[in-house]
Amino acid sequence: MTQEIIKKADQVIAKTYKRFPIVIAKGKGCTLWDTQGKKYTDFVAGIAVCNLGHAHPGVSKALSKQADTLFHVSNLYYTIPQVELASWLTENSFADRVFFCNSGAEANEAAIKLTRKYFKEKGESGKYRIISMEHSFHGRTMATLSATGQDKIKQGFEPVLEGFDYVPFNDISALRSKIGPSTCAVLIEPIQGEGGVRCPDPEYLKAVRQTCDEAGILLIFDEIQTGIGRTGKLFAYEHFGIAPDIMTLAKALANGLPIGAMLAREEVADAFGPGSHASTFGGTPVVTAASLEVVRVLSEENIIDHCKNIGVYFKERLSWLKDRHELIEDVRGMGLLLGMKLSMEGDQIVASCMEKGFLINCIQGNILRFIPPLIIEKQEIDALVACLDEVFNQMVR
Ligand SMILES: *Cc1c(COP(=O)(O)O)cnc(C)c1O
Repeated sequence: MTQEIIKKADQVIAKTYKRFPIVIAKGKGCTLWDTQGKKYTDFVAGIAVCNLGHAHPGVSKALSKQADTLFHVSNLYYTIPQVELASWLTENSFADRVFFCNSGAEANEAAIKLTRKYFKEKGESGKYRIISMEHSFHGRTMATLSATGQDKIKQGFEPVLEGFDYVPFNDISALRSKIGPSTCAVLIEPIQGEGGVRCPDPEYLKAVRQTCDEAGILLIFDEIQTGIGRTGKLFAYEHFGIAPDIMTLAKALANGLPIGAMLAREEVADAFGPGSHASTFGGTPVVTAASLEVVRVLSEENIIDHCKNIGVYFKERLSWLKDRHELIEDVRGMGLLLGMKLSMEGDQIVASCMEKGFLINCIQGNILRFIPPLIIEKQEIDALVACLDEVFNQMVR
């Protein structure tokens, strides 16, 4: 059956993904099973999405309860779960208002539109350019790929949208000198995810905040990957003693159901009035009810503290591997967003780990990324580390 599914998929599905030749059939917690019954420990979590693990009973229950009550009505009307989720998000962040949509790219689109509108409303319509970072990733729609600081994402889709400038991450003087009279905002991931798990220098984001304030421009944090507990705080900005003006969320917000959110301070959010922006499915009851359960579990079950502590342990274990294997150049990251830079391509390591029952991810060709569910336990980490140790030993031979 597995081979038939794969063959059919290759005939009927758009060729946008390079997939591994397994068909995942079910999951529970940090474990996945394929259609042949083979078991895997999941250090990918749907790319930092399933933070509470697979088939979380509370989330499934909240989802099916809402599904039996009301799926969807349109944002022409109020619904309870949407209001409750927005309340939770604003009570637990710097933000005052939330716009709901369905994906990360869409959340960033909303942030880009809001920023332009904000300066138009202020009578500064010459301010429209956004500075983003080299190696950043902000999505695959035309505006968000234009914001993305990686040429490979744009290739074939030119001309990209006008109005984006790029500077190196972690370089405050490059940022300062790029700001011009038409700059309206800086868009940045507090830790670059897809770009290679690149962390900011300790004082860098504070300096970015100060630079934005001095220039009278907005600061947008793309927390689509770093948000919802992943780095050991609810939002990564909390590590740095500052807050952005706008923040985008998606990935883990509903543990696997499609959701995006753009959060902003009141004065900025004010630029969107009725008719400015919209999304048919944005904040639909089923998804927001599931998300409400996600944030309830996160806060009541001490999951973020667990992530912080187990993340420290995991990073120590990866550093232990680095001391043993010359082909490991660097270990980095925060919480359970960890990266390991290799002096060789990582594809074969990923394939060998899969063979041995572990799913890991490789980005930028030679950086292994570890983004398991936040409920991952020591034994699972130890087992992966033993597997990697063995795989690295085999590589050398
Ligand atoms: C995944 C990701 C996006 C894009 O999200 P989609 O839901 O795939 O559109 C944007 N920014 C960051 C930082 C991401 O990790």
